[in-house]
Amino acid sequence: DLLVVGSANADLVIGVERRPAAGETVLGSDLAVHPGGKGANQAVAAARLGARTALLARVGDDAHGRLLLDSQRAAGVDTVGVLVGGAPTGVALITVDPSGDNSIVVSPGANGRLAAQDVRAAASLFQASKVVSVQLEIPLETVVEVVRSLADGSRFVLNPSPPRPLPAEVLAACDPLIVNEHEAKVILGDSAVGETPEDWARILLAKGPRSVVVTLGAEGALVASAQGVTRIASVRVDAVDTTGAGDAFTAALAWKLGTGSALAEAAAYAARVGAVAVTRQGAQVSFPTAAEVEAL
Ligand code: ADP
Repeated sequence: DLLVVGSANADLVIGVERRPAAGETVLGSDLAVHPGGKGANQAVAAARLGARTALLARVGDDAHGRLLLDSQRAAGVDTVGVLVGGAPTGVALITVDPSGDNSIVVSPGANGRLAAQDVRAAASLFQASKVVSVQLEIPLETVVEVVRSLADGSRFVLNPSPPRPLPAEVLAACDPLIVNEHEAKVILGDSAVGETPEDWARILLAKGPRSVVVTLGAEGALVASAQGVTRIASVRVDAVDTTGAGDAFTAALAWKLGTGSALAEAAAYAARVGAVAVTRQGAQVSFPTAAEVEAL
């Protein structure tokens, strides 16, 4: 089984002709409210593929929290680990202009209250999970506690987004660490970044993870481990909206690893899942079923 530990946000989206400057008020479209947050997105993406998936997260005792719980349950995610209360549900306030450029304010809310103690209280979820997938929209202490709570033989997958420098204990547990170019550069900090994605992957691997995956958008991905560095071809599609592609990719990869796939095989499958997701508008609504991935 797959356990996702991470954020759940309500995405509040308004289309505008022009994003407002300081002190300015602009009129926009009707408000659209979508379930989002990297943790919630990954759990839905995995469940839609057919993975037995649980989510450990925290939402507020409010309408946004109920929206998130409903969307998880509708996708078939086990929500016994979704804790309620402590702060309002996390929110992303998003304005989008006609060219697709956006401005976003995130209020972490309840995500910031998902505590190490909540991880310890979820021991039975950890015991039942072959793979635990985490991102960084929750406190770093909570991520450290996840690493310490892994069941024997279970695998830790981390997408460090939004990126920040990571303690050695967390880096050493990653199998794999999944980064895009921006995340790779932040994790590497001042150390030599190198010229090519292969360079980033090798330098990241030297920082301690057991394996590394670098995602390259329309260029596909590459995987790196002690066995070497392998390119994963992308699938050519007409991209309409890349929102959530990284979450779909990570969820698919984590699930496939749990079923016993080798890293390169799992990444090739994940690239197909990411490719379907970019052919559709939105995040959670864009995630494919296994049959839709098969049909690609
Ligand atoms: P992130 O959103 O985290 O930056 P990417 O944009 O690299 O992640 O997307 C994750 C994966 O989704 C890519 O590695 C690739 O396999 C797939 N993908 C993303 N964009 C495209 C695209 N335009 N065409 C085909 N596949 C894509």
